[in-house]
Parts: sequence; structure tokens; C-alpha cells
Amino acid sequence: MRRREVFAGNWKMYKSYGEAKEFILNILKELNGQLVDREIAIFPPAIYLREIVQLCKDTPISIGIQNIHFKEEGAYTGEISPIMAKDTGVKYVLIGHSERRQLFCETDSDVNKKIQAVFEHGLIPIICIGETFEEKEDGRSKKVLKKQLSMAFKDIDAIKMKDVIIAYEPIWAIGTGKVSSPDNAETMHNFIREILKELFCEDTANSMPILYGGSVKPNNITGLYNMKNIDGVLVGGASLNLKSFLDIIHVSK
Ligand code: PEP
Repeated sequence: MRRREVFAGNWKMYKSYGEAKEFILNILKELNGQLVDREIAIFPPAIYLREIVQLCKDTPISIGIQNIHFKEEGAYTGEISPIMAKDTGVKYVLIGHSERRQLFCETDSDVNKKIQAVFEHGLIPIICIGETFEEKEDGRSKKVLKKQLSMAFKDIDAIKMKDVIIAYEPIWAIGTGKVSSPDNAETMHNFIREILKELFCEDTANSMPILYGGSVKPNNITGLYNMKNIDGVLVGGASLNLKSFLDIIHVSK
């Protein structure tokens, strides 16, 4: 089955507005009608979203927000509600990134609430899951992924799952330069698909894009992308540089 392919760049808390705008104008110039078989998604800092969404209107680039609060409004200083995110024109919401989980104490239950909120407001979640180095060393990777998925999708109807994307991001690989081997990533993606079959059904599991994230660079993308169950990538560091991001998104089978 041919699935949707997505190449996403998470800019985290990097780039001035001027740098962000320059990157977007340059990547649009470089793409110029190419790469029609895959979607490019960029997650800039939230404060630039409205302008960047406008720059990318009617182009091959989709824009997403890096995080949202699950409440529609309230006394939550510094937070952004799903309604506010929707109003900027973004398509995607990154949910459960390991930096949110580890640095901001986000739980599996928060992830579940955020997914529900995203569905409520017609946005599409990219749900990040992944194990720590210790969990990997203890042989608990699959157990951790199964728990994260089961809790993320608790009480969520299969009917809502049509556009959802999963990003497998082993925490030991994020920002460390220690990319997963293609074989290991493929094993984990295949396992994730098996869990999705248990949670939903075969069709849902088989049609859902599963992206790999963790130290993806131009020199390691080919092996990963050639794996059957890897439907694109979520790139942090290497998405900040136009040349390296272009080299990644131009990968071919
Ligand atoms: C990320 O932050 O999601 C990520 C994968 O970062 P990096 O590519 O820098 O490892």
C-alpha cells in the first residue's frame, strides 16, 4: 500500500522572524513545483505562524504548531489554545514531543487530551512517541511504545484517525547524532503498526504514515527512507539549514 509521505522540520526555539521568512522564501523558490509525491511540513516558533502560513498559502509546504494547550481558553499564562492555533491557519499540531514530555512534564494523559482537542478543532496531530536510552538498554522499548500509544489513543474513535501521523522518535537519537539504524527503525515502525492494528483496525494501521525522527541528516536519510514502514521523517537540527533540509527532502527510493 502506498501511504502519504511527510517530511517535517521542527524548528524548536530557533530562528529570528527575519531568518524564518528568508528560509521559507528560499525553500519555496527551490521547490518550484518539484516533490509532488510528498508533503513538506514546517513547525516554526508559534509567534511567527500567522505570517508564515500566509507565505506558504497554495504552496507544497504545510505549516504546523509545535505544541498547544488542550483547553479552549482560560487562565493559563503563556499557553496557546487549539482555537488560537486553528485561527493562525496551521494544518498540523505536534503532540508529545520528547522535549515537551521531559522538560515540561507532559504526561501520556496530557497527550490524549491534546489529541482530543486537536480533533475537536479540525487540526491534524503528529504524535511523537519514543523510548529513552535506559528503556532501550533494559529491553523495554516495545513495552514503552505500546503504553504511549494505548494511552494517547484512549477513548478515541477509529473514524477520527484518517489523517493522523505518528512520529517514532527514540529519545536517545534526538539531537545526539546517534541515529537509529534503518533496520532498528523499521522493526519499531512495524511494531507500531501492529499495535495500531490492535487498537483500531488493519486498514487504519496500514494507511497511517509513521515518520522516523532522531538525528536525521543528508548522509543517513537514504537507508531510513528505503524501509517499507518509514513514510517520511521528522527533522530537528538539520531542518534549520536550507541546504541540509533540501538534501533530506529530495531523497529518493
Ligand atoms: C526532533 O526534535 O524532533 C528531532 C528529531 O531532532 P534532531 O533531528 O535534531 O535529532
